[in-house]
Amino acid sequence: MKIPFNIPYTTGKEIDYINEAINKRHLSGNGPLTRKCQEYFEKRWGFKKALLTTSCTDALEMCALLIDIKPGDEVIVPAYTFVSTALAFARQGARIVFVDSRPDSPLMDECLLEKLITPKTKAIVPVHYAGIACDMDRIMDIANRHKIYVIEDAAYGINSFYKGKALGGIGNLGCFSFHETKPIHCGEGGLLVINDERFIERAEIILEKGTNRTAFSRGDVSYYEWVDTGSSFLISDINAAFLYAQLEHLDQILEERMILWELYFNTLNQFSNHPEYNLPSIPGFAKHNASIFYLIFKDENTLENYRKKFEDSGIQAITHYLDLSKSPYYKNNYKSIGLKTDNATTFANTLLRLPLYNGQTNIDTITTVLNT
Ligand SMILES: *Cc1c(COP(=O)(O)O)cnc(C)c1O
Repeated sequence: MKIPFNIPYTTGKEIDYINEAINKRHLSGNGPLTRKCQEYFEKRWGFKKALLTTSCTDALEMCALLIDIKPGDEVIVPAYTFVSTALAFARQGARIVFVDSRPDSPLMDECLLEKLITPKTKAIVPVHYAGIACDMDRIMDIANRHKIYVIEDAAYGINSFYKGKALGGIGNLGCFSFHETKPIHCGEGGLLVINDERFIERAEIILEKGTNRTAFSRGDVSYYEWVDTGSSFLISDINAAFLYAQLEHLDQILEERMILWELYFNTLNQFSNHPEYNLPSIPGFAKHNASIFYLIFKDENTLENYRKKFEDSGIQAITHYLDLSKSPYYKNNYKSIGLKTDNATTFANTLLRLPLYNGQTNIDTITTVLNT
């Protein structure tokens, strides 16, 4: 028996909405299904403006353009994150300043931020790892005092909360991913959330290849032309149609994932003979969305032993991010600035994700491996 790490979930309704897109004869971006999704995001989580993009990476790249990143600007990014969190800003010439993880969790250590801020710092990019909120009050307070932007990388953060506030809706800008490995998806897709109204008009232009085509399609202007920088960041209405079906089933999808997550947690919590690993710890201010179930092993060798045990049982358990400050691209192109990232390195070596997908019925088989 093989147990994969992930099986992308489909609701069965995706094809109906794709047919709707076909029947409406609008398959490119900014169509009726895109608008349906965007309105859903704005209504449900109170986001001021939601724009669908082709990926979270693209949404982050739009942020770099929106805040006018210039060569020499500094952007503070956790070392323990996906490449895109740093790459989007590095591509515009920013110097990436890595911040370490907390000792007790893979999320950024907000206590270190103040030390990393210089007159060149333009933005902080908190990453809500596994849909678990960073300490946003402290991060927003530091950013406000130093007049720098906060861009939330909420790639995994759909319907997760910080003190009751939806992730992605707290910083100036927020980014989500609908890649098939995230809790709701459309194959490849993303979302830019704009909470700071100053960015709305320009974001619509950057999304549409630097043109005011969005204003034109609303009838605000009589023709459209090249007015700013940008790229083709917008999603096809075919993908938006797929995503809309997932949004309609969001509560059911996330409830089922939470049942699986808690089954893992409660089962493993009962095993008293395992000093080898720790379970995820969720801060009191965070309500997460069960996007990832992970364990933190006591060291690299212990992780490797268990990973091997899983593999021998046909179970695909996988590590996650690497410490970006030690990646070949960063080391070859940048003189390291910032502080040490020992905790991020430790989480890169000791964090293991277990299979979690809708329709899963094999949690007992998986947890048994951890009880031997
Ligand atoms: C997955 C992920 C991304 C990239 O998402 P795409 O939609 O694949 O571009 C960015 N940041 C984080 C933290 C991620 O986990």
